[in-house]
Amino acid sequence: MIIDCHNHILLTGAYPGAEKFIKEMTLGYFRSQGELPVDRMPTDEDWKGMEYLWAPTHPDKLIADHPGVDKCVILAVAPSDYTAYGVRGLFDPFGFTKVPGPPSIDKANDYIADLVKSYPDQFIGFCAVNPKYRGVSAAIKELDRAILDLGLTGLKLYPAYDHYSPDDRELAFPIFRRAEELKIPVMIHQSSTPVIDAPLKLGRPFLLDDVGRAFPNLKLLACHAGAPWVDECLVLVAKHPNFYLDVSFFNSLISEEEMLVFLHKCKAFGVPLEKVCWGTDYPGFEFPEKLLSKFMNINDHSEKLGVEKISPKDMENMLGNNFLNFIKKN
Ligand SMILES: [Zn+2]
Repeated sequence: MIIDCHNHILLTGAYPGAEKFIKEMTLGYFRSQGELPVDRMPTDEDWKGMEYLWAPTHPDKLIADHPGVDKCVILAVAPSDYTAYGVRGLFDPFGFTKVPGPPSIDKANDYIADLVKSYPDQFIGFCAVNPKYRGVSAAIKELDRAILDLGLTGLKLYPAYDHYSPDDRELAFPIFRRAEELKIPVMIHQSSTPVIDAPLKLGRPFLLDDVGRAFPNLKLLACHAGAPWVDECLVLVAKHPNFYLDVSFFNSLISEEEMLVFLHKCKAFGVPLEKVCWGTDYPGFEFPEKLLSKFMNINDHSEKLGVEKISPKDMENMLGNNFLNFIKKN
């Protein structure tokens, strides 16, 4: 069973904010690929042909873009209306789902639940809430609705994008407390982002240390291996027994050789490979087909690098079983 544990779908905000967000997100990547000018800011003309980047992703396209993958985790994006990106959050402007009424970021979790219902064999759904959007009690109420009524599997949080710290006792801790009570897994974007109006200081992995200390039974997955603060993420995940990490996005930044070295580093830091989950961060950066083959080829480099191969069992676990353990109710 191969599971891509980190996917985005539909659209993550209203235009023009959604377009601005994606352009900031991808500018550096496409500049380094030689596809956008580096000596000046790209104009609308320069971005021509790349409009697909800020077009909504249809579920059939997501599935078609995942050859060889059995299941995809689809993540809601939390709502906000106070950042430089205007109305932001998962929504469905073109009616790809059957959720009735006008498109709205307040229906983010309904969209994910609808997609899971329509594609029960392919999708696992995570809801999202933002305690800074309409307050903590509204966020907890929405979390309860998403899990207990809509039947979603877990929660995804985006503190840096939503301008709060995950160690904030008033904003964030009540959400973690409720997640622990509900016995649901929480995925959290604790990593950098090139998006300008997302403070880097709120992305540091060590901010989750107090969360692990306060909620020892909470299952928590730090996304993107904490990139670029990878060592900090490894220390964190090694320390807290119920913490996991995923390699989504991070795997677009590194080579097959570097991934093999990274997995040995995990073990050296005390992170058993049972805590490492494979994912892509689709549709950003490299595509699943390439990322899957990159991951599966890492052992080809063991001799040259003078390191042991990763065992077939560990490979299989990272590609799916570990995530199933993460979402399993204890
Ligand atoms: Zn993501």
